[in-house]
Amino acid sequence: MLDTRPLLLDTDFPALRRGELGTLQVNLGYLCNQTCTHCHVNAGPKRTELMDRITIDLVLEVLKERSITLLDLTGGAPEMNPDFRYLVAGARAQGVEVMDRCNLTILMEPGYLELHEFLAEHQVRIIASLPCYGPENVAEQRGKGVFEASIAALRKLNKAGYGYDPELTLNLVYNPNGAFLPPAQHTLEAEYKARLNDDFGVVFDNLFTLANMPVSRFGGMLLATNQYQAYMKLLKDNFTAANLHSVMCRTLVSVDWQGYLYDCDFNQMLDMPLRACPDDERSLIARENPRPHLRSLLEDFQIVGQAIAIGEHCYGCTAGQGSSCGGSLSD
Ligand code: SF4
Ligand code: SF4
Repeated sequence: MLDTRPLLLDTDFPALRRGELGTLQVNLGYLCNQTCTHCHVNAGPKRTELMDRITIDLVLEVLKERSITLLDLTGGAPEMNPDFRYLVAGARAQGVEVMDRCNLTILMEPGYLELHEFLAEHQVRIIASLPCYGPENVAEQRGKGVFEASIAALRKLNKAGYGYDPELTLNLVYNPNGAFLPPAQHTLEAEYKARLNDDFGVVFDNLFTLANMPVSRFGGMLLATNQYQAYMKLLKDNFTAANLHSVMCRTLVSVDWQGYLYDCDFNQMLDMPLRACPDDERSLIARENPRPHLRSLLEDFQIVGQAIAIGEHCYGCTAGQGSSCGGSLSD
């Protein structure tokens, strides 16, 4: 696969600094039951990288020590980590909100057929990818049969109360099926709600629109089809400075399956680690451990006000209406 990383490191993107830390986004591993074309983590059924129990216990400790209010679980398919339920139950017992980035089809796989009941019982917020309300685009981007399985999974979630009960949030995610920016989030959400309800009797709370990032599998596709320069120009031409205030790295830290820290999931995929406090020469951790780890967050590691590692891909977060884990930044 062609790699955009060398093209992204030198950038004129404006400097960013972190504010208060509210979210720990944890990648539980790259194992997934799907192999989507836009996947920025190259996940798939043959990946073996999975967070182990020792690291998961560190996650629980960090949530407590740093008074973090939201645990955002991602992968791969995070549910395929054997300790998924252990982590969710542990975090909920501490009063932490838990968000599961669910690909929906996992809920229809053997071994996971009752998982929706566990998620509802623990009031886990679901954020699920569904790049279209019709089958063709979904099949092209996520694979044959994925749309039908996704609708069946959404019906199961609805039956468990998701989309109806205010305590059981079900949000969907749209990303473009190509090198273009997402349409206006509120307009597309209205369309999704009407079509999914009319055609399939499915309800959900909110639709989040995300821009595709020029990294990993999508970045490789851009290079292979000579669309990289045009896509970067599109992102830069649509740069919106107001979005700089709310990009997700300002309040979030991303953790990889081995427990190392990054400013966001995209930096994680580009192997651009979180800086070891370059502004604080007195930091013991900065001298001894240039690659910050979850363990650093149990010590005196200064995360607030820290400079964020940026690259050309950051223009994907600020283009047009903006893009983050929670969808558009300007809606
Ligand atoms: S995009 Fe999500 S569902 Fe698709 S391969 Fe990647 S991790 Fe799996
Ligand atoms: S890609 Fe987005 S979230 Fe990540 S560091 Fe850049 S601006 Fe922040």
